[in-house]
Amino acid sequence: MLLESAACSDVGRVRDHNEDSFLDLPSHGLFAVADGMGGHAAGEVASRLAIQTLQRRLGSPGAASADLPIEQQVAEAILQANAAILAESARDPGLAGMGTTITVAVTLDRPGELLLGHVGDSRAYRMSDGQLVQLTTDHTVVQRHVEDGSLSLDAARHHPLRHLLTRALGTQADVEVDVFGATLGPDEILLLCSDGLTGMVDDEQLASMLADAGPLPDLARRLVSAANDGGGEDNITVVLVRTAGGSPPEPDEGAPAS
Ligand code: MN
Repeated sequence: MLLESAACSDVGRVRDHNEDSFLDLPSHGLFAVADGMGGHAAGEVASRLAIQTLQRRLGSPGAASADLPIEQQVAEAILQANAAILAESARDPGLAGMGTTITVAVTLDRPGELLLGHVGDSRAYRMSDGQLVQLTTDHTVVQRHVEDGSLSLDAARHHPLRHLLTRALGTQADVEVDVFGATLGPDEILLLCSDGLTGMVDDEQLASMLADAGPLPDLARRLVSAANDGGGEDNITVVLVRTAGGSPPEPDEGAPAS
């Protein structure tokens, strides 16, 4: 599938190190964002372990087993990342309690068809027909309250406990993974990002920036700058993927007569 991609990650204006990790592997159609958490450098270790595990399982030639449906391969790669983080935490007490979010997108054979895997509060968005659509559901306590109607979206955005996750990698042996498909039309954009972007830049601003995209590396830098302009309170990571533009349909006529 023809596509272009770009990524940008930044420490922000408040934190002293960057615990986000990402994967931007267009040759394998593999893209991901992981937002690590934990004391000292532990969050960094957790997010990097998750990304490395996904790359090994889904991004190396022959790594993915053709016998398994891709949905199962993505889910199992994420579960294996979870197990790797738990094992490393158990091995090194200095890393105990580390965890990470993961949001991964894999391109499938049909142009524009994607499979996403997701745990935590990093997000995937699709910019399609001028509309920004959030593809992932945040696994947070405030999101639950939004869904049961006890909290408005705006109140959730500013809630002091908005970072409290209901699911993350590295916290328990059995984690529920969201796996689902999505489709991009020609010349449409997928955005994967950590909450350092979405906490500082609201959906309306995101939509207008993605509508006026231009070259993806520039857009990635502009999104990070917008988050820093909004306060830069957390590490900021964006991965952008754009499908190729539409081509005219194959002519039906003119085939040589047999
Ligand atoms: Mn974060």
